[in-house]
Amino acid sequence: MSGSKARLYMDYNASAPLRPQAYDAMLAALLIDANPSSVHTDGRAARSLVDQSRQQIDCLFGGQAKQMIFTSGATEAANFVLTPDWTMGRAPVRFSKLYVAASAHPCLLSGGRFAFDDVVQVPVTEHGTVDLIILEDLLDRHDAASGMPLVAMPAACNETGVMQPLTELASLVRAKGGTLVVDAVQMAGRLPIDLSNPAGDYFILSAHKLGGPRGIGALVALSDLMMPRPLITGGGQEKGHRAGTENTVGIAGFGAAVQAALIDMAEERWADTVVQRDRFEAELRMLCPSAIIHGDAVQRLPNTSFFSLPGIKAETAQIALDLDGIAVSAGSACSSGKVGPSHVLEVMNAERVDGALRVSLGLDASDADIDRLLQSLQRLLKRSKTARAA
Ligand code: PLP
Repeated sequence: MSGSKARLYMDYNASAPLRPQAYDAMLAALLIDANPSSVHTDGRAARSLVDQSRQQIDCLFGGQAKQMIFTSGATEAANFVLTPDWTMGRAPVRFSKLYVAASAHPCLLSGGRFAFDDVVQVPVTEHGTVDLIILEDLLDRHDAASGMPLVAMPAACNETGVMQPLTELASLVRAKGGTLVVDAVQMAGRLPIDLSNPAGDYFILSAHKLGGPRGIGALVALSDLMMPRPLITGGGQEKGHRAGTENTVGIAGFGAAVQAALIDMAEERWADTVVQRDRFEAELRMLCPSAIIHGDAVQRLPNTSFFSLPGIKAETAQIALDLDGIAVSAGSACSSGKVGPSHVLEVMNAERVDGALRVSLGLDASDADIDRLLQSLQRLLKRSKTARAA
């Protein structure tokens, strides 16, 4: 790339680059030409690959997972688990309402297989954390005669990085006779999941947010007493919970990525990313004292900064940064090319701003990268000031 600067990727919450360990594991898996359900030697080799990945991913849960069903990603896992119809052994079990954080990813907010009227949005505070008092009130008023309450919460918001108080949420939900589904997509592999006092009952994972391949995820159950009725039926794969031949290549990449992510976490490498993110925000405030950093008063993911620059549309800023070779996002990247107001800003009552930019860093973010981002924003702020003065 003579003469032009290499691109800078700062959109890890949309998708993290494939880790080399995942790439190697996937190449090796591609050479295993068999169906993991086949009983011959070749089939058993494929099966042991799937089992090994399951064990690697279970390390995120301290080896406590009772069920791990591989899916095509977090969206499928959400559609699988968010259903009124469950079974306990052979007996049917019914959830009558789904309570979901208003700041959740659309794959939770759309309610899975619940009827539209049975999905209740739980408001969040201006900081983006779930309003526990309102949730408690909603659960107190839940009509238990019609079925149990199912609660779905993001461990961390993909846009703001704001983390929910999972242990408190789990105790509240349990005390009210409910079941907690945690969307751990953005937290898994970046911060440990607190299992001393289980922070949830069912967890949704996606490989591509932690350096695995896109198109593979899982639903993890810490207890196998109850399971949702399958979303995909057919053969008896995944113990009858999800039909279809397993994506052995994706699963192998997922397991290897988790293993590498766990090493990074053990070495506390994300602590350096927090330093970079905090320096970025401190210098941004100096460049633009009226900048609003959403969710900065509460606990956030180490890599995420979601901010508004008054007077500058987030989409305009995103394009300007892109032209400077820097990839960030203006809200979430859940549908290709979609540009629209962020529902997370709306539910945090911050809709009066012109959208927000999300910078989500990887472990490799350097001082020079942050300087380059700040310089690009500085040029943008200057251009905007000149345009307003003209
Ligand atoms: N949940 C969260 C918090 C996400 O950030 C995303 C992706 O952006 C998803 C769920 C959906 O994940 P997938 O792409 O695996 O369907």
